[in-house]
Amino acid sequence: MMSVENIIELKGIKKRFEDNFEAVKDFNLQVKKGEFVTFLGPSGCGKTTTLRMIAGFDIPTEGQILLNGKEISQLPPNKRPINTVFQRYALFPHLNIFDNIAFGLKLKTKTVTYQNASGETLTRQEKLTREEIREKVSHALQIVDLEGFEKRSIATLSGGQQQRIAIARAIVNEPEILLLDEPLGALDLKMRKEMQLELKAMHKELGITFIYVTHDQEEALTMSDKVVVMSDGKIQQIGTPEEIYNEPNTVFVADFIGESNIYTGHMSGIRKVNFCGAEFECLDDLPTGAKVDVIVRPEDVIMTEPEKGTITGVVQSVIFKGMHYEIIVESGDNEVVIQGTRGAKVGETIGMCLEPDGIHVILADTNQNIYEGELTKNYMVEFAGGEYDCDVTRLYPGSTINAEGVLVDASGDEIQTAGVKVKVKVPVESITMSDDTENGEGICGNIISLIYKGDHYHYIVRTKDEFDFHLHDEYLWNENDYVRLLIPKDSIELSLADEN
Ligand code: ATP
Repeated sequence: MMSVENIIELKGIKKRFEDNFEAVKDFNLQVKKGEFVTFLGPSGCGKTTTLRMIAGFDIPTEGQILLNGKEISQLPPNKRPINTVFQRYALFPHLNIFDNIAFGLKLKTKTVTYQNASGETLTRQEKLTREEIREKVSHALQIVDLEGFEKRSIATLSGGQQQRIAIARAIVNEPEILLLDEPLGALDLKMRKEMQLELKAMHKELGITFIYVTHDQEEALTMSDKVVVMSDGKIQQIGTPEEIYNEPNTVFVADFIGESNIYTGHMSGIRKVNFCGAEFECLDDLPTGAKVDVIVRPEDVIMTEPEKGTITGVVQSVIFKGMHYEIIVESGDNEVVIQGTRGAKVGETIGMCLEPDGIHVILADTNQNIYEGELTKNYMVEFAGGEYDCDVTRLYPGSTINAEGVLVDASGDEIQTAGVKVKVKVPVESITMSDDTENGEGICGNIISLIYKGDHYHYIVRTKDEFDFHLHDEYLWNENDYVRLLIPKDSIELSLADEN
């Protein structure tokens, strides 16, 4: 149900480009009138593509975009009450500031009511008068804090000032929604911080809806009412900056927003979680025995004497960072990153404690590597674009491979396997990677994501046919590395598809 207070709503939006690349996959979002919403995610996650669809520069392949409840996804950009500010200012260098800002206004018309000779009230479209244009430009310059700059040429402005002119040019049209695509990306850090605060003030003053794109998490947390965390064309989480930071709902969000220690563990009792070799009290009520991912922010780790700690560890490094010390501790096989106001000595053994509210537990995604597959006549299984050795006897209770190498049932009759549909499950722990991509069995792919989990890395490798494999490895590989996936025969779990 569309509520009137939603100025814009994206429903089931997908975007597939001509080359068949799916940049946005099933995007659903409601934006309230006057909200400051930020799309946050790594490069290539589909932020700009989504923004371009809202602006009208791209048309969704599927789904609806509703503006005040009306479908607009096919409407050209200039018919939408929406303006965009880009990272590159795209100002006209040969025009002065006044003409740059007034550019759009000169093409604009307003509706005027008048009475004709017979006294009827009619309406007609009229251009804005010079005085009206002058007033609007002056007001826009005042909002971006560049009053009186009308006559200056673009070339005399700093980067920050040019971006303000670009913003003035967008707001002078009085759009209902202002889209901002990494508008501060080209500015240096100090100027960027200043402009962040100014943009937030402008948002308040104008009262219009801002949709902002950035890959900078600090910028997103500072400015937004609502953050939409994206990765890989999908929404990972929508929430206020506090919710996104304090209650990330996936390890991706925890890893992307701020610093995190992430561990694998299991629930060992009611509100008790076991990780890093110890049991901790937590606030999350998940089923006992459940496999979980545990997120601990570095500032929530409390350092204490070794005998008072729930766990102990040896300090590996201490870095002074101005506001705090960053201390890296090795505890058994796990690494713990701590941010604290006091330092420690390298080589020292320390104790570490956690308050229940410093532990955030989420259910681990345990059934990640599941594929539809098909058996071949020579007892291999094809799935995810590759062909693998497997043990077919496990599929048919009582079956064996006889002396002739033929699969037979308990009474010795041959079982035909060609084309039999199966469900294939590959445990994450069983896959390994090799950098020998030239020779060997199995399939190759690129590492598209890695997350450090204390004593190992969790990788996602995507094959050229867009199948994803989750796996663990204690060693650090790089994002985008091209690797071969090695899947041991015994680890492939099969079940007949029609039994599922
Ligand atoms: P960035 O911060 O780097 O701009 P982004 O999150 O805004 O990243 P998009 O620009 O939306 O990402 O791009 C998402 C994906 O779609 C990228 O992999 C990009 O290469 C691809 N893409 C964008 N435009 C096209 C196009 N016209 N044809 C094919 N692929 C495209």
